[in-house]
Amino acid sequence: MPPRAGPSRLPAVTVLLLVVMVVAVVGTAFSLNASQSELRFRDAESLGLGAAFGAGFGGAGEYSKIEMAALSGPLPTDAADVAVPVLMYHYVDDEPPPAGPYADGLTVRTPDFVEEMEYLVTNGYETVGLDDVYLALAGLRELPAKPVILTFDDGGLDNYEVAFPLLQKYGLKGTFFVITRAVGEEGSMDWDHLREMVAAGMAVQSHTVSHPDLTRIPAERLQTELADSRDAISEATGEVGYALSYPGGAYNETVIEAARAAGYVMAVTTDGGAALGPESLFEITRKRVQPFLPMATFARLVD
Ligand SMILES: [Zn+2]
Repeated sequence: MPPRAGPSRLPAVTVLLLVVMVVAVVGTAFSLNASQSELRFRDAESLGLGAAFGAGFGGAGEYSKIEMAALSGPLPTDAADVAVPVLMYHYVDDEPPPAGPYADGLTVRTPDFVEEMEYLVTNGYETVGLDDVYLALAGLRELPAKPVILTFDDGGLDNYEVAFPLLQKYGLKGTFFVITRAVGEEGSMDWDHLREMVAAGMAVQSHTVSHPDLTRIPAERLQTELADSRDAISEATGEVGYALSYPGGAYNETVIEAARAAGYVMAVTTDGGAALGPESLFEITRKRVQPFLPMATFARLVD
């Protein structure tokens, strides 16, 4: 389109200025996790909850009373869908762990992971948690302009030794879904690791007690797999249990109802896709980050 001249130019400039101003305001408020934390902290202080907040940011207990209530209740009926890519990782390491035939295909190699995190940072993406999304749907938090959620399933020791330090280096947040019975076993993270990660702003949520196919177990065991893992994480780390990751991505209506009854407000699957809204909170789709993914493909995943 040729450049327009004359009177029509002024409104265009005004609109552009407005856009720049909005971007600047949003950018100032949400460009850094630290500043976001300060905002939350101020909110909390104004509610007289300052003393309840520990050191660090984004970790356990960083909810106002209103947010806590929202995280355990239904969303407002007018809550609208949001577009937030949810990426799914398992292991991040130079070599796959000796964890069975699938480990190789589930291990993103360290140099590739570094490149992916650098891509996110240099392209203005900001990591948020699933709790941030839920509270945004509830109208209590605002999401950054380019939000992305990084999830890690299964609780491998590499998550603590490789992914966690890199996330910290780049100022990013990860959501780690752990199998509570495996915590502390050889090759897995232990509770001290998880406490340290929560204190540093990472999220630790449930991938059940023992990683069964939830669609194929009796009702009583389904209940304990969901409730006991949520309780164990909460007791050990102080995290509020809001999210569940279905083992193997397997779920049905019975599983969703049981998850709801156990106190979760959202759950992630292993299916690819993008929609994230009030109607799909227990069927949140994720984009699998395959090992040796070309950067152009990674870029499309978060776009
Ligand atoms: Zn798993």
